[in-house]
Amino acid sequence: MLIEAVRTFARNELLEADRRWDTGDSSVREMLPALADMGMLSLSLPEDAGGLNCDMRTYAAIIRELAYASPSAAVTISVHSMTATHLAEFATAAWREEHLADCATADSLLAFAISEADAGSDAASTQTQATRVDGGYRVTGSKMWISNGACARWFMVLVRTDPDSERSAGLSALIVDGNESGVERDRIHGKMGIRGSDTVVLHLNDVFVPDDQLMGVEGQGLRVFLGALDEGRIGIAAQSLGIAQACVDEMVSYAAERVQFGKPIGRFQAIQNMIADSAVELEASRLLIDRAAYLVDAGRKNPMASSMAKLYASEAANRIAYRAVQVHGATGYVHECRVEQLYRDARVTTIYEGTSEIQRYVIAKELIEKGFVD
Ligand SMILES: Cc1cc2nc3c(=O)[nH]c(=O)nc-3n(C[C@H](O)[C@H](O)[C@H](O)COP(=O)(O)OP(=O)(O)OC[C@H]3O[C@@H](n4cnc5c(N)ncnc54)[C@H](O)[C@@H]3O)c2cc1C
Repeated sequence: MLIEAVRTFARNELLEADRRWDTGDSSVREMLPALADMGMLSLSLPEDAGGLNCDMRTYAAIIRELAYASPSAAVTISVHSMTATHLAEFATAAWREEHLADCATADSLLAFAISEADAGSDAASTQTQATRVDGGYRVTGSKMWISNGACARWFMVLVRTDPDSERSAGLSALIVDGNESGVERDRIHGKMGIRGSDTVVLHLNDVFVPDDQLMGVEGQGLRVFLGALDEGRIGIAAQSLGIAQACVDEMVSYAAERVQFGKPIGRFQAIQNMIADSAVELEASRLLIDRAAYLVDAGRKNPMASSMAKLYASEAANRIAYRAVQVHGATGYVHECRVEQLYRDARVTTIYEGTSEIQRYVIAKELIEKGFVD
């Protein structure tokens, strides 16, 4: 019922808005209250914080439905939900008691800040510095490409707490309050796609973070973040699936209506091949996502399965979006046609939350260590 309700809401309320966000200055921010009313900000919050505590398979289906209508809304909810899951698991009891339930509301959007100008795929080279002071830390540095950053209330931030420890050993996860003095956000303009999703550079200028906003244990921050990404990747895979499904639907309907050489182009085998290959890749993506989500639900977290789902679904979405434009010919090359936007929106899915090259690295490393696919 929830998935059906989200499908109806997304197609009726988000689709048109998303088209507007692609060309104007507005963003998914304007729909946050409606998304909160639908329960979209509480999907991964635990029940004792008033959340829906959604299982991963339902969650992935919801992200898919959002992405079908609005890839920007889908990534907004995915980033918020991934962060919420890890705040519920690693934030101190004091922080959870005071703030976790509020994360279901539009005023408490969450963001996840790991990337920096010189620390992209290589998160262990994080430079943002947290210095110990009485009662907490003072944090200075800049985080790049932060989704939800324009209006997020809470940021989960990877910082270096021990300047003398090299690489991951000196890293910790802190919760930074967006209302704290010294927090500045610069909106990034000119993105190729998902323009309705707010992306910022987050500047932290000597920001105070109290002790009870340390997540888990000092020095183990990278582990907290990488654990979050394992689940986050299922969200991005589901976003890719929603984009791909929208492309296939557009292709199929255009192939039936466009007439050339006296017949609908869907009668030509070359067009049928593009549709058939896309349908198979769509189904394969769905099955990989289902499997990765099932393993999380069964308590058998499996980074390789999440990486496989993310790698395959994101690459497939790009191939499918390419074919969708091809099937539409010149019509698909202009903004008026939705596939033009979907083609651009799909592009980021092979980049964020770990590039395709990094997913392959995760898969191969685990496989070589274990010697088999679990
Ligand atoms: C729209 C958008 C939203 C984003 N949202 C967030 C967010 O909310 N929070 C956040 O923290 N980050 C976010 N990011 C950042 C994103 O996660 C990074 O862009 C991504 O991790 C890749 O880092 P990079 O761009 O610095 O590329 P680099 O790491 O510089 O990589 C450049 C190229 O080199 C390849 N490469 C790098 N290392 C290796 C290796 N070891 N082996 C093989 N190839 C390699 C990469 O695959 C890529 O092709 C976002 C990015 C975008 C575009």
